[in-house]
Amino acid sequence: MLFKEIDKTTIILANCGKSRPRVRRVPTFLLRTWQRWVGLFFFVLVALIATLCLIVYQNTSRDYQARLDRANYIRSKIDVEQIQSSFMAIDSGLYQLNSFLNERGLSHFQIDENMGNLGGIPEDIDVTEVASVGVFFEKELTSLLSDLKSLPLGKPYDGDITSKFGWRRNPFNRRIGENHAGIDFKGAIGDTICTTASGLVTESNYNSGYGNFVVVQHSDTLQTLYAHLSRRLVKVGDKVDTGQPIGLLGNTGRSKGAHLHYEVIHNCRKINPEPFLLQ
Ligand SMILES: [Zn+2]
Repeated sequence: MLFKEIDKTTIILANCGKSRPRVRRVPTFLLRTWQRWVGLFFFVLVALIATLCLIVYQNTSRDYQARLDRANYIRSKIDVEQIQSSFMAIDSGLYQLNSFLNERGLSHFQIDENMGNLGGIPEDIDVTEVASVGVFFEKELTSLLSDLKSLPLGKPYDGDITSKFGWRRNPFNRRIGENHAGIDFKGAIGDTICTTASGLVTESNYNSGYGNFVVVQHSDTLQTLYAHLSRRLVKVGDKVDTGQPIGLLGNTGRSKGAHLHYEVIHNCRKINPEPFLLQ
């Protein structure tokens, strides 16, 4: 035999019940040193738990540090002063556009007064709020650009102005005053008349006053009218772009000589087209 047989002690487990007593043989050295074995077991258990906690802590800490480093990196890349300066410039631009529109009596295009220069960009822009401020300006600029595209800016015809908007002497009877609802441009019959903004042709007709005339709807509230045409080049329902020919200059209707009568209509009210001409 290679190994000496281990000395064992017999333990009889006597049951007070009806079952028979059970016999177990355990190594005698275990009975003599059981306190040490129990101690060793608890030591190993505590060591395992401590190791596990350390691993979890290190992983969590490493993850947290990585996130912190990433946040600091992003923070270092964001120039708050630059952002603030950019937003203030955009804000100022919006304010100027707003003033431009207001000067022309188009206050309904005014942007939200609760924001921007009209309400105040915060002195210290919170970096976490940059996205929402950006969205605000993007929305407002898109809206303003859309409105500006529908503004009838510039001249419909490059001719001398012979009669302005407002009260004037009646051209047929010089003694009576009348309200001139538009601007007259002197020109030659057959010259091309172009629309001053994109839109939809809502009228292309003839009557005794305007003669041949065309009305273009540019937005819910803005229209332009071109009268005394010798010929109309568009029909109701046509979509027209800025600068597109819509008729030829003429002398039809209540007109004394070849000219274009041009009107700008805002909310069903005829307003002075002169500020829109941008001379
Ligand atoms: Zn006129």
